[in-house]
Parts: sequence; structure tokens; C-alpha cells
Amino acid sequence: MALLEVENLSTSFYTYAGEVQSVSGVSFHVDEGEAVGIVGESGCGKSVTVQSIMRLIPNPPGKIKNGQIRLAGRDLVRLPEKEMQKIRGKEIGMIFQDPMTSLNPVLTIGRQMTEVLQHHEGIGKNEALGRAAKYLTMVGISNPERRLKQYPHEFSGGMRQRVMIAMALLCNPKLLIADEPTTALDVTIQAQILELMKDLKDKVNTSIILITHDLGVVAGLCSRIIVMYGGKIVEMGSTQDIFKDPRHPYTWGLLKSVPRLDASKRSKLVPIVGSPPDLLNPPKGCGFAARCPHAMKICETQPPAYTDLNEKHRAACWLLHPDAPKVTFNGIDEK
Ligand code: SF4
Ligand code: MG
Repeated sequence: MALLEVENLSTSFYTYAGEVQSVSGVSFHVDEGEAVGIVGESGCGKSVTVQSIMRLIPNPPGKIKNGQIRLAGRDLVRLPEKEMQKIRGKEIGMIFQDPMTSLNPVLTIGRQMTEVLQHHEGIGKNEALGRAAKYLTMVGISNPERRLKQYPHEFSGGMRQRVMIAMALLCNPKLLIADEPTTALDVTIQAQILELMKDLKDKVNTSIILITHDLGVVAGLCSRIIVMYGGKIVEMGSTQDIFKDPRHPYTWGLLKSVPRLDASKRSKLVPIVGSPPDLLNPPKGCGFAARCPHAMKICETQPPAYTDLNEKHRAACWLLHPDAPKVTFNGIDEK
């Protein structure tokens, strides 16, 4: 069953230069207990999409222009801010790229964790401390009683991210949103945090939206992948579909730029040439046309519609039109 349904979401920022259409016409759902990855380069609309879901778009200059965001049937777009405050941290947990910006440097970890519980669940201090200790243990932090008395700067980067994960899960949220949770960490710690998230996904029955610019990161955790480009979803499908039968040239580009951890299969990394479209003056046709090696005349003038490839897999590209030339993904260069 769908826990989250996003329908035709459009979010813009109104700047002195004009309207920046950061997210336009985005629709997707997340099932109960499912982990979905949203991938794309920076500026493609991933963060704005989840900030819209959490209603954290600063207004002004930002605004959800259009669409519905239903969490367990309730439309969050139309909810008063007071109601949203009860949902953030309680029904939706969040983890961000840099824990230092979301942790308060002058309060102990214990104080910050118990405040979340006291605010959302109204439980007493001792009970809250007990639960906080239990969650620190769950995310692999030993000596939780001692750790609760420490300040954020006394934790390493990886440990701080573990604390953030524990805090995000404290109130048993229905949905966990992780925006580039490992980007600021070095590679070894990154792998450990991903391993932890995988482990927790099976332990707590929380749905997850994982945002990353790295397709390699989602593969192990998510069963479905959404690829965004220029504020739109260009392809989505099961992880299997996206890796084995990708249909959008932008997805092909992303796959070719994923570094392989397995050195024996070291592939040639091919960066995607060019830069994302200017969302102040979005292109008339396909947003990827300026960078697409397969662009045709029609791509410049008309946006491609979605083609459904199977129940879960769809892509928006003119190459999927029956009359288009047959161009397919020729895989990742393994040599
Ligand atoms: Fe390339 Fe055209 Fe497909 Fe866009 S619609 S990705 S420009 S082939
Ligand atoms: Mg971002």
C-alpha cells in the first residue's frame, strides 16, 4: 500500500530575475516499508522535492505552486504549519548531508534526543533518556550512557551521522528522508553508514527516500529508483530495470559515471558533458536535449511524454516513440 503519494508537484522560487521552476509536474509514490532512491546531479530538483514533502520550502522566495502530497491519505500541502510541526520529526524523520548543521553545538546529545521525545511524545526525562540510549546502541554507538552526556564536537563525522540517524528514528517515523546522508563522509565511513541503513531498514519498518547524486549508493538499499533531471522525473523503475535496462540517455550517462568499487572491473568513467538546464528559462522541448548525444529535431521543440515500459518502469524520451531510430544503451565499458 502506498504510504506517500506525490501527484503533479511543482515548486518554484521567485527571484528578482524571474520564476525558477525547480520542480515541475513530479509524480511518484512510496509504499509502506519500501526504500526508494532519487538520483540526479545537483540542481536537478531532488532536494526541493523532499523539502516540499516536509514543507520546508522557504516562502518567500519559494512556493509549492501545484500538486498534492499525501502521507497516509492526508494532503500535506494544505495542512496548517502547526499540524506540519507535529508531523516533522514524528511521522517523517530526516537525515541531512551535514549533521553539524542540524545538531545544536551547545547542547548535549542526550538533551537533544530527549527534547525530541518530550516534544512529540510527552514522555518523562528518564524514560526518554532510556529510549535515547537504546537507539544509540541500535546505530552502533557503544557506551550510550556516557555518549549522551557529550556534545556534538566530541563525535567524529561518521558517529555524528549515526546520532542523526538515531534521532530521526526515535519516534518511529512512517517515513525516513535521507538527503545525501553520506556525501560529507569519507569512503570507508560512507560504506559503514550505508550498511547501517540497510540493517536498520530490515529492523524498523520505515519507508525510506534516499537522495543521492551517486547511483552506486542506492543500489544496495533501494528497490526502486527515480531519476530526476531539470526538475522533472525522466525515468523511474525497479533497481533491476534501471541498472539492466535503462531507457533514458541521462540515466545512461549517470550509469557510465558511477565509479566501480571492484577494481578488477574498473570501468572507464565517462562524465556527462555540459551543464544542467537553466530553470529560469526552461528549455521548450526535452530538458536534456542540449547534452544528449542522441537528440533529434523534435527534442528541441516538444517535451517527450512518458512511455510505460512495465508496471513500475517508465521513461520520458523521444527515442521510445515507435518511429524513432533504434538506439540502446550499450552497457558500461568493462575494459
Ligand atoms: Fe535525448 Fe531527445 Fe530523449 Fe531528450 S528526448 S533524452 S534529447 S533523445
Ligand atoms: Mg541537494
